[in-house]
Amino acid sequence: PNIPPINNEPMRNYEPGSKDRAGLQKAVDEMIKAGPVEVPCVINGKAVTTGRTNKQLNPSNHASAVAVYQEADAALIGEAIEGALAAKVTWEDMPWVDRAAIFLRAADLIAGKYRYKIMAATMLGQGKNVWQAEIDAAAEICDFFRFGVAQVAELYSQQPAKHAPGVWNKMEYRPLEGFVLAVSPFNFTAIGGNLPGAPALVGNVVIWKPSPMAVLSNYIVYQILEEAGLPAGVIQFTPGPAEEIVKTCTDHRKFASLHFTGSTYVFRQLWKQIVSNIDNYVSYPRIVGETGGKNFHLVHPSANVTMAVHESIRAAFEYQGQKCSALSRLYVPASLWNNGFKDELVKEIKSITLGPVEDFKHFMGPVISKGSFDKSVGFAEAAKKEGGIILAGGKGDDSKGYYVEPTLIQTENPRSTTMVNEIFGPVLTAYVYDDSKPDFWKSICAEVDGCTEYALTGAVFAKDRQAVVEANSYLRNASGMFYVQCKCTGAVVGQQPFGGGRASGTNDKAGSISIFYRFVNQRTTKENM
Ligand code: GLU
Repeated sequence: PNIPPINNEPMRNYEPGSKDRAGLQKAVDEMIKAGPVEVPCVINGKAVTTGRTNKQLNPSNHASAVAVYQEADAALIGEAIEGALAAKVTWEDMPWVDRAAIFLRAADLIAGKYRYKIMAATMLGQGKNVWQAEIDAAAEICDFFRFGVAQVAELYSQQPAKHAPGVWNKMEYRPLEGFVLAVSPFNFTAIGGNLPGAPALVGNVVIWKPSPMAVLSNYIVYQILEEAGLPAGVIQFTPGPAEEIVKTCTDHRKFASLHFTGSTYVFRQLWKQIVSNIDNYVSYPRIVGETGGKNFHLVHPSANVTMAVHESIRAAFEYQGQKCSALSRLYVPASLWNNGFKDELVKEIKSITLGPVEDFKHFMGPVISKGSFDKSVGFAEAAKKEGGIILAGGKGDDSKGYYVEPTLIQTENPRSTTMVNEIFGPVLTAYVYDDSKPDFWKSICAEVDGCTEYALTGAVFAKDRQAVVEANSYLRNASGMFYVQCKCTGAVVGQQPFGGGRASGTNDKAGSISIFYRFVNQRTTKENM
């Protein structure tokens, strides 16, 4: 198919006085003034009120809610599944270019008409500052939809390499038999779009359970897809209690796939639930998950200190460390730590400002919830009890919003609590390693590799090329994303396919062609001519 060339959505800067700043400011002000948005479930294209409601709070100011939403229950999910399976008949037979057009159009609507609205919802509802909202809710979501179209075009064009004399071979890429369950997280509006979007693009129907802490922005994504032409029933928008929704889906004979981003614990629970139903399913379900992380920066003695410090601050504290990819363990050689690294790091962290996202000026905003606040502050306390030294931060203030100071802990134990557990908050732990012995690099790489059960992202800072080559080999399975001379966050769709292994996920690489293989049922045809 003739797909126009795809580029990453250009980033805007929202400088004071700019048209973008004014437009976004207006959208934010109006959203605050209008009060909580009423969000329904949407089944077969119709808004459904269940009478069971819940609230999504504004984490910068938790006295106010951004949305009051209807929660789906088991009976409604049952209806949603039947409706989706009915919609599947025409959706999967719709010419592929027409399906593609819906997603391309949705991307254009997000990039243009709804850019400020979806960003405002992401800022106020998920506590992202303007730049974090821009890279997520304006840029990455468009990239997922647009590159997705190009990647699927490439997938569909892949055909058997040979035809024997008198034999015609072909490959078809049919959607899965049944429906997909998408369970999306709070931390990226773009992932909210991609989890139902990717399977739908290749002709699947999807039950979408958004995170309770991202209902508003995710509902806006849903509405935009509808405006772009998504037929009723193809994606069913069903916020609500995870257990009930998931159980109803995974108990169904036509459950065909789980597309998940969230915690390792929840993913494993879902996997077990799926296994317990395995005799009941029409097909083996495709289980695709991106889960936890405990990501590292490993600094070599040859590193540029200013660069390593700067990138570490960004990776650990942008969006308050609430990215699966966020940096949380930092390994620095003693020769650098005591000669400027520590001082520069502490000084930079102490200059970080923290405050409500609608002020448009702070590097950091709130963490998402009370639970997250308690967890981050609790981990700092636990580190102290274990003998860790708090070099910056360590405290929080949740009186108005859930604000946790950017926290730096120095530990002498590379396996201490905050070096091995995922925190998902602005807490960075540094371990200073001895680089005086000849084989120090091999042994610190072994420590980085063996320290946790996770393997999502990691970065190496070294000017010495041999050190990079060795780290590349020693750390082969330590992360699905290996960054050299740059921070371990911020994978760009179409450029760095994203995903990790071990307890971090099934490593199916969001933002690349690989993910689409999981959502198609390939059929080979051989025809004698
Ligand atoms: N893709 C994002 C990044 O590279 C992280 C996604 C996540 O947190 O799940 O930073």
